[in-house]
Parts: sequence; C-alpha cells; structure tokens
Amino acid sequence: MTHSPSRDILERWATGERIAPLPVREGAAPPAISFEFFPPKTPALETQLWACIQRLATLRPNFVSVTYGAGGSTQERTHATVLRIVQETDLTPAAHLTCVGATREAVDEVARRYWDAGVKHIVALRGDAPNGESYAPHPGGYAFAADLVAGLKRIADFEITVAAYPETHPQAPSPEADLDNLKRKLDAGATRAITQVFFDNDVFLRFLDRALAAGIKAPIVPGIMPVTNFKQAANFCAACGTSMPKWMAELFDGLDDDAETRRMVAAATTAEQVRVLQANGIDEFHFYTLNRPDLVYAISRILGVKPQPQSE
Ligand code: FAD
Repeated sequence: MTHSPSRDILERWATGERIAPLPVREGAAPPAISFEFFPPKTPALETQLWACIQRLATLRPNFVSVTYGAGGSTQERTHATVLRIVQETDLTPAAHLTCVGATREAVDEVARRYWDAGVKHIVALRGDAPNGESYAPHPGGYAFAADLVAGLKRIADFEITVAAYPETHPQAPSPEADLDNLKRKLDAGATRAITQVFFDNDVFLRFLDRALAAGIKAPIVPGIMPVTNFKQAANFCAACGTSMPKWMAELFDGLDDDAETRRMVAAATTAEQVRVLQANGIDEFHFYTLNRPDLVYAISRILGVKPQPQSE
C-alpha cells in the first residue's frame, strides 16, 4: 500500500490548482452567533463564568442564554446570572425556562419577573424529570413546551426560542410527530429553534430539508458543542438521543490522559463541522460553551467573527 498522493491530486497540483477542502467564502458576512452558559454553583465557578462571558462578549453575540437546571433546580441561580448580565454588560440575555415540576402560576411568575427586569427573550422548554425518571406533566402545570410558549405569549410579547431535534427527541413517537411538535411551538409564537447537539452535519442538513418541506420557515440554528472529553460527551449524548460517530470515538481513543491533544482534536473537529455548515449556507450558530471560552472563541474567529469595540 502506498501513501503517496493520488494521480488526480498530482494532476491538480501540476496545473497549479489550489486544493482547498472547503470553499472559502471570501467577503461573506460573518454569521450571527449566540452563546449558552449554565448558572454557576460556587463562587469559584462564578468567577470562571464571568471571565468566560467577558471574553466572549467581545465577539458581540446576538444573544447569550443561561440554562435552567433539570427540574427547575437552578431557578434562583439562573435568575441571578441573567440579572447580572443585564446589569453589568450590554449583552442581550435569554433565560431558559422549563415546565417541569411547577404550576403554571409559578412559571408565569418567573416569566413576569424576567419581563419586569428587562429580559425579553426566553428559551422555552419542557425540561426533563430529575434523576432520569420518566417525565409526567405537573397536574397544574404546562404539559409541553408548546403550552409554555402560548402561556408566555399571554404574559408579554417575549421573543421565544425553542428546541429542535435533528435526530428526533427520544420520547417522540416518530420523526414526523416530533416535527409537528416543532411546528406547534413555532405556531404558538416562537420565532427560532436551536438544535440539540449533533455531530453529523448530514443529519442536520436533512433535518432542515424535512422542516422546510413541512412548511417551517423560522430559523433552525445548529447547536454546536466542542467536545474535549469524549467519555463525558458520550454519556450526555446517549441520554439525549444524539449519536456519536465512530470516527469521533476513534479520534479520541487513547487520549484520556492527554488533555492538551484532546483540546486540539476538539478544535479541529468543531472547526471542520462549522465550516462545512457555513459552506452549506448556514449563517447562524449557537455554541454550548460549558462556561469555557477558548475553543468557542477560536471557532467563532474561524467562522469570520471578529471582536468589535464595546458600544458606549
Ligand atoms: P417538547 O417540545 O415539549 O417535546 C418533548 C417531547 O414530547 C417530544 O418527544 C415531543 O415530540 C413530545 N410531545 C410534545 N407535545 C406532545 C403532546 N401534546 N403529546 C404527546 N407528546 C408530545 N433542559 C433543561 O432542563 N434546562 C435547560 O435549560 C435546557 N436547555 C435546552 C436548550 C436546547 C437548545 C435544547 C435542544 C434542549 C435543552 N434542554 C434543557 C433539554 C430539554 O428540556 C429536553 O430535551 C426535554 O426532554 C424536551 O424539551 P422540549 O422543550 O424539546 O420539549
């Protein structure tokens, strides 16, 4: 077996043809980006989060979102983090809010507090039952995300983002039913969907085709997660129905004790993922930052997003 370049590549070199793995979209406008953070549990993690927010803020994201812990367990911390973003930055915050384990009145009260504090964008979700139990709607609560979207719209004219699942939500009876559910959420007043994390771009692009064919016109923004810890990510993905490609397992194989190489592999694979999406016309990206700025910062730069001066 030889490892020399193929005849085809040699011929292209000979003619001086530039071999680029992807079309470089010179002159194209940089994409819109958004970042997701989780509320910190300890003062040390809060310091880490704020360093992360400050670094990523220079890239002028469209908005930054703060998650709501499983079962609403981080309600106060989510609220405090979102409020601090309002008070100390000029970023536009989006607060995640879930239906799980709460009455409609309690959820509405949280939403009203956000609106009164100037937080006008909600990422509206059903949420999951804590500890891996199966989900059952609270008797007096919003049963599904579509109900929550409608409830929020009754309170105020929130901008609302919802979740979408290129690989189908694990509890959906079928991909078609799941797409109908996405449509219901958008029909109820949401104007954007962010996807569950995925690693196979074809799956995402086929999902966009299906959504378009179903009459969905709202933007469906890819949720991008740079993976540095393959084992941890594999556990998370198994729970949320995201498949981990075999090539990815192979790339990380044997790197458990080599954090630096894992970071380089993560940077390369995520950069490749977003550039392929960009080459396919995707112009909006949402990054799951895990409260760590460096990889996401570099990948945003690779997409053409540059730091901008702070507005006065
Ligand atoms: P829904 O849209 O309500 O759908 C849930 C399931 O129910 C689907 O299978 C759907 O097809 C089905 N369904 C919907 N309506 C009906 C109906 N009327 N009858 C029967 N079945 C129905 N979780 C958190 O706890 N906190 C977060 O901050 C958080 N942020 C997230 C951000 C993003 C971008 C994403 C993609 C997920 C996030 N999650 C979060 C996880 C999310 O809560 C779970 O994936 C949850 O299992 C589903 O939430 P959903 O809003 O998609 O639910």
